[in-house]
Amino acid sequence: MKSNRQAERNRMVDQYVVPHGVQDPAVIAAMRHVPRHRFVPGAYSLFAYVDGPLPIGHGQTISQPSLVAEMTEQLKLKKTDKVLEIGTGSGYQAAILAELVDKVLSVEIVEPLASQAEQTLGELGYTNVRVRAGDGYQGWPEEAPFDAIIVTAAPDHVPQPLLDQLAVGGRLILPVGRDIQTLQLHRRTETGYERRTITLVRFVPLVRPGDNK
Ligand code: SAH
Repeated sequence: MKSNRQAERNRMVDQYVVPHGVQDPAVIAAMRHVPRHRFVPGAYSLFAYVDGPLPIGHGQTISQPSLVAEMTEQLKLKKTDKVLEIGTGSGYQAAILAELVDKVLSVEIVEPLASQAEQTLGELGYTNVRVRAGDGYQGWPEEAPFDAIIVTAAPDHVPQPLLDQLAVGGRLILPVGRDIQTLQLHRRTETGYERRTITLVRFVPLVRPGDNK
């Protein structure tokens, strides 16, 4: 019988996520519920509930659980929100979002990662997430506006299309910079945008079609 590893997940939340400062009960419940081990390659399964990033292939990583929880909390999500994620990766962050809101859209530039994430999310029964392969710098204009946008790869500047695709009152959280990045929270107001810097983080770079590897 397959273990669902609930005890390990609770320990992860109690030892890392809550001490990190995350308080939103809905975010904490989602972190206790989503089986992170299903989103990491088998070889790293043992480490699925340690608070660190892990390789997911194609030079990419699944983010650290405490950071996933912190970024999610900062978005102050409501059930009825429509959320866009840029950088689907394993699909883990998308699953956390899908626990909290009705509709999640996620864009991933590496096609095999997009299809793998779609498969994992399907196996786990998430019917409220759509994954698309493509360049997330452009957002998902056909589905805009969004109540929240989360970017989990770092561009060197804030992509204008993502600001444009926020609803009034909508929030955008993203790392910005080249090596060490600032985690920024932007909010669209009636007249413009407010911006706040939260902390320093380290994400893989947001790549653009045509970038040299
Ligand atoms: N949120 C993921 C982790 C993201 S790692 C998870 O929960 O597992 C960052 C991801 O962003 C990588 O999979 C990378 O391929 C993707 N990425 C990089 N540049 C991108 C772009 N321009 N558009 C969409 N995805 C991009």
